[in-house]
Amino acid sequence: MKRPKRTLFERVEYFGLTTEYADDLPDKICGYLDPSKDARFIMINRNHPRSEQNFTIAHELAHYIHHHGKGCFPLIIILIRMLKAFSSFKWASNSIDRLRQFRSGLMEGEANFIAMCTLIHCDAMDDVNDYLKRHPEKKMLFVFSKTAVFIARIDRFINP
Ligand SMILES: [Zn+2]
Repeated sequence: MKRPKRTLFERVEYFGLTTEYADDLPDKICGYLDPSKDARFIMINRNHPRSEQNFTIAHELAHYIHHHGKGCFPLIIILIRMLKAFSSFKWASNSIDRLRQFRSGLMEGEANFIAMCTLIHCDAMDDVNDYLKRHPEKKMLFVFSKTAVFIARIDRFINP
């Protein structure tokens, strides 16, 4: 049986999270996921436009579902662990830093991709269009996400 399509906020609620809005976040911070092990909320910068806020909610929800407390990209984690044995050498600590940045870049890219898929799948196209107007450089992200939503059983992917 086909599962009913949930809105973004129904998804947040489904995972037991709440959305909180802060007035005092620096402008470059869109929001963040509660960093505690048992994350309870997504914090959003209230001063950002609505489409930005909703993209951030979808982005942080993707982190929660796919990354939070999970050892994502285990090969990179193993490499970092191995390099720690040599961390007194400059080349090793440099490599650790670069691997950490690479892993975090992968997770950010994945969260952006899943966030865009989520908004498209939820039919939140006003948010998507407004977001793309503000971030024209994300056009390819939109094209890939739209294709993924079209060809994949996307609901199980973004909401396993
Ligand atoms: Zn992120």
